[in-house]
Amino acid sequence: MLRTRHGDVATPVFMPVGTAGTVKAVAHDRLETVGVQLILANTYHLYLRPGHERIARLGGLHRFISWPRSILTDSGGFQVFSHRDLRRISEEGVHFQSHLDGSRHFLTPERIMDIQHELGSDIVMAFDECTPYPCGQTDAEVSMLLSMRWARRCLARWRELDDGSRGLFGIVQGGVYPGLRQASVESLREMGFSGLAVGGLSVGEPKNLMYETLAYTLPQLPHESPRYLMGVGSPRDLVRCIAMGADMFDCVLPTRNARNGCLFTSEGRILIKNACYAEDPGPPDPQCECLTCRRYSRAYLRHLFMAGEHLSAVLNTIHNISFYLDMMHKIRQAIASNSFGGWLEGSDKFPD
Ligand SMILES: [Zn+2]
Repeated sequence: MLRTRHGDVATPVFMPVGTAGTVKAVAHDRLETVGVQLILANTYHLYLRPGHERIARLGGLHRFISWPRSILTDSGGFQVFSHRDLRRISEEGVHFQSHLDGSRHFLTPERIMDIQHELGSDIVMAFDECTPYPCGQTDAEVSMLLSMRWARRCLARWRELDDGSRGLFGIVQGGVYPGLRQASVESLREMGFSGLAVGGLSVGEPKNLMYETLAYTLPQLPHESPRYLMGVGSPRDLVRCIAMGADMFDCVLPTRNARNGCLFTSEGRILIKNACYAEDPGPPDPQCECLTCRRYSRAYLRHLFMAGEHLSAVLNTIHNISFYLDMMHKIRQAIASNSFGGWLEGSDKFPD
């Protein structure tokens, strides 16, 4: 259980990605109905557009986007660093050019804390350098050490800004090198964050390497505070990573795939455009009780997708988010009744 100013969040939890203050295609009242407890918004995108100062003048992010439940804001490290040709890193911070209009910006760890403070996030992420893959050990170490110095600066600023009612999470880096991951965890633990996240994974490395890295990183995270695995993953990944100790997740997979007509179901992934669904009167997933599955057929969803109708993205997204949330709900029940082991053994049957 995670307690924020905007309610209790049962863990393990999946956070739909609402980068620009919207979980694409689905209105917030509907997300509440579906049972979303916590959404992720992105500091970098909101800082560039519409601007955190404007959002603050409009009463903060919760009021601006009309979302009464909890919000976690990513620090933007991943976005800044993913535009490699547009940025320059120094000890002080990052100079970068907006991917929207080419305007020049300079962000420091302190400034990122100020921005997330003004947005009014419930959970704030430290500013880190997301180490790319592949990356040699020496470069990964330089990068990780910079992230650790920035983490300390984030914490110092956050203690000036916050009254203790909101959480600041540190982010473990270190690439795919056990010694570096361990050193990163140790320095963050010593600093005293309210939760820790594992970053720098799901950035193009082979999946077995991601699992290897998690196998030695996750057990080192403190058990008494949240353990957030950033940017992961498929339903199968979630089951396996929960077994390894992660309890918070975000990923664009359910929402992005929905817009591309790919549905996660209890029978695996289905591509709704396939001709076999053209006259299929059944629900997308016979075992799902979401708003989409209770009311609409595969045939109709296929028609909407083929016709390029906006409603296609809406209904598919509602289903995919519901599928993820329902799975997490059942996993929480299984953990509570000590029967989660069976889930792990059967994890192959979950869509990947
Ligand atoms: Zn459904």
